[in-house]
Amino acid sequence: MTVFNLGSINADLFYRVPHLPGPGETLASTSFQRGLGGKGANMSVAAARAGTRCTHIGAVGADGAWAVERLTEFGVDTRHIETLAQPTGHAIIAVDDDGENAIILYPGANAALTTAGLISALAQAEEGDYFVTQNETVLQAEGARMAQSKGMRVAYAAAPFDAKAVQAVLPYLDLLFLNQVEAEQLQQATGLAPEALPIRDVIVTLGGDGCRWYCKGEIKHFAALPVTPVDTTGAGDTFTGYVLAGLDRGLPMAQAITLATKAAALMVTRQGTADVIPDLRDVHRFDP
Ligand code: ADP
Repeated sequence: MTVFNLGSINADLFYRVPHLPGPGETLASTSFQRGLGGKGANMSVAAARAGTRCTHIGAVGADGAWAVERLTEFGVDTRHIETLAQPTGHAIIAVDDDGENAIILYPGANAALTTAGLISALAQAEEGDYFVTQNETVLQAEGARMAQSKGMRVAYAAAPFDAKAVQAVLPYLDLLFLNQVEAEQLQQATGLAPEALPIRDVIVTLGGDGCRWYCKGEIKHFAALPVTPVDTTGAGDTFTGYVLAGLDRGLPMAQAITLATKAAALMVTRQGTADVIPDLRDVHRFDP
């Protein structure tokens, strides 16, 4: 089976600075690093590293060939990624000596995605394959609708939260991922608590407190593993990618969540995003 992921591809540009710049200030950075990022790319890397086939649907600019190459190296099928006239989406991330950050996010090609990649990718999909999307691109609802009409299972991580985007996708969902803040935002927007949503499976992640799985009126809690966090960036994306890969490989939900919980715990002990998402072997060996 295959996970088809309609999602963002970003260049994460990290600048270390003595302090965050104020209005009108010009500040020299003491170091610079470029990494692959974007929730979409992170999830595709996680799904591929978790041992399933993953096809990424997305867009970059002419300056994004390296990002596509990186995804390919991680084992992601990149044949349906479009190259557009807009620059590749990027995040300019300034980090000061206290670890405080300021981020400028430029959506670029992610916001200019056309249906061409979606149509060509989903033409390869089979009934029972997974489709997943998040909110850092456009065409979420169109993608979810097309996937549902092909008999695919439709999953969605409602991040970054956008009430309109979420409500447009809700009718197509089999599986919804929310973090605790998003669960509250969704409840404010719809009046519905996670257990009341008309979706078969809802998973609410709770950071260091693990997650809750809501299914058919039952709630199951999964504790997080005891680790000392170094960098929690990408924990949620790793978790989501691992759950989907597990399900796609035929694991029952509880086993997929248990594996994803372990992968996400290992991820928070590592500094960085897509480049350090653990593979299945590391996750099996990890014994905190
Ligand atoms: P997001 O990054 O989307 O906000 P969460 O912070 O809820 O998501 O984290 C997703 C998952 O990552 C959690 O359900 C948990 O399994 C794992 N995780 C996050 N923070 C920690 C932590 N401090 N210790 C162990 N596991 C963690």
